[in-house]
Amino acid sequence: MTETIKVTVLGSTGSIGENTLDVIARHAKYEVFALTACHSVETLAGQCRRFTPRFAVLADSSRAAELEQMLADCPTEVLSGADQLETVAAHPDTDTVMAAIVGAAGLRATLAAVAAGKKVLLANKESLVMAGELFMDSVRRGGGQLLPIDSEHNAIYQCLPVPLIGDVISGKQGVRKVILTASGGPFLDLPADRLGDVTPEQACRHPRWEMGRKISVDSATLMNKGLEFIEACFLFDLPCEQLEVVIHPQSIVHSMVEYQDGSVIAQLANPDMRIPIAYGLAWPERIDSGAVGLDLTGLQPLEFRSPDLERFPCLRLGMDAARAAGTAPAILNAANEVAVAGFLAGRLQFDRIHRVIAEVMSKMPCEVAASLDIIQTADSQARILANELIVKENV
Ligand code: NAD
Ligand code: MG
Repeated sequence: MTETIKVTVLGSTGSIGENTLDVIARHAKYEVFALTACHSVETLAGQCRRFTPRFAVLADSSRAAELEQMLADCPTEVLSGADQLETVAAHPDTDTVMAAIVGAAGLRATLAAVAAGKKVLLANKESLVMAGELFMDSVRRGGGQLLPIDSEHNAIYQCLPVPLIGDVISGKQGVRKVILTASGGPFLDLPADRLGDVTPEQACRHPRWEMGRKISVDSATLMNKGLEFIEACFLFDLPCEQLEVVIHPQSIVHSMVEYQDGSVIAQLANPDMRIPIAYGLAWPERIDSGAVGLDLTGLQPLEFRSPDLERFPCLRLGMDAARAAGTAPAILNAANEVAVAGFLAGRLQFDRIHRVIAEVMSKMPCEVAASLDIIQTADSQARILANELIVKENV
C-alpha cells in the first residue's frame, strides 16, 4: 500500500481552504493532518467531523472551549492561539502545508512550514510580499518545495521549462518577459467619478472568481495585481522590467511567459482555484481537480488591454513598492490591509483606499529588510499611520 500524504490546511475555513478540502476529498492518497481557522468555530467543527484531522487550531483562543465541546466525540485534538499555527505547520508528521490564511496573519506559520522543509502550497501571497527575500532564503535553506497557488503564478510556473522557483530567471532559459494577466475586477469599465460610491457588496461581487472579502476588494482596486507583481518578482527572482501586466477580462489565460525567440507560452483553464490547488498537491504528477474542462468553441472572444493606472492607482503603488524593495512592500501591504478593512467596515470610501496607502508610503522610510523584526516593525508602524489617517478622515 502506498503511504498517504498528510496535509495541513492553514485557513481551512476560507475560500482557498474549502477548495483544498474539495480536491483532497476526491483522492484517497491525501489525509488531512491539521485544519486551522481564526474564529469560524462551526465551519471548523464540521470540517473536523468530516476529515478527522489529528489537530484543529483556532487562532482566536477565546472560542477554543466552544470548539472542544463541539468536538467532544471526535478524535481531533484542539489547540488554540496563533503560536499553535506554527506548531502544526512545522510538525514532523505533516508532509504538505497549504498556506491559505489571509493577510500578514499568515506570515509566521507559512515561514515555519518553509523553514521545516515542507512542501508548501502558497496562496497567502501577503507573506511573500512582506518578507520576500527572507522568505525565499528560508525556502532555499529549508530544502523543501514551494509551489505557487495564486492562479497567475501557478500558470507562470507551468509555462516555464523547468521549475525556476528561487532561481534567477534573467538570462536563463531564454525568458524575455513574464506577462501577468488581470481580470480587471468588477469596476473595470466604471467611470472614475463613480468609484467613490461603490459599496463593499459591489466590490466583493467579482465577475469571474468567488473569493474571500479582502482579496475581492484587492481585485476591485487592482491592488491584488500590485501584490502579485511583487510576488512574481520574489518567486521567480525576476527584475521588474521583465514583468508586464495585461488586463484580460475573461480570466481564461492565467498568465504567460515570452521567450527570446518570440514564442509565448500560456496556461489556459476555466477560472476555478481547484486547478492550481490540484496542481500543487500532486506536483509533479497531475490529478483530477473537479473543475470543468474548457469549451474552446463556446468561449467569449479573449481580449487583452493595457491597465489604466490613472483609474487604478493601487497597481502603480504595487509596482513602485516592487522597485523600491526593502521594507516598501511590507509597508504597502500593511497600509492596504488597514484601508481595505476600513472600506469593508464602512469607514473609508473605495476611492480613498489608494490615498491612504500612498500617504503611508510617502511618510515612512524604506529600509533594508534585513530581519523579520525590521519587517514587522515597519508593518506595525504602517498600520498605526493608516488607522490615524482613516480616523482623521484627512485623505
Ligand atoms: P478567506 O477570507 O476566504 O479565508 C481566510 C482564512 O484565513 C480563513 O480560514 C480564516 O479563518 C483564516 N484567518 C483569517 N485571519 C486569521 C488570523 N488572524 N489568524 C489565523 N487565521 C486567520 O480568504 P481566501 O480568499 O481563501 O484567501 C486566502 C489567501 O489566499 C489570501 O492570501 C489570498 O490573497 C490568497 N488567494 C486567494 C484566492 C481565492 O480565489 N480566494 C486566489 C489567489 C490567492
Ligand atoms: Mg491571483
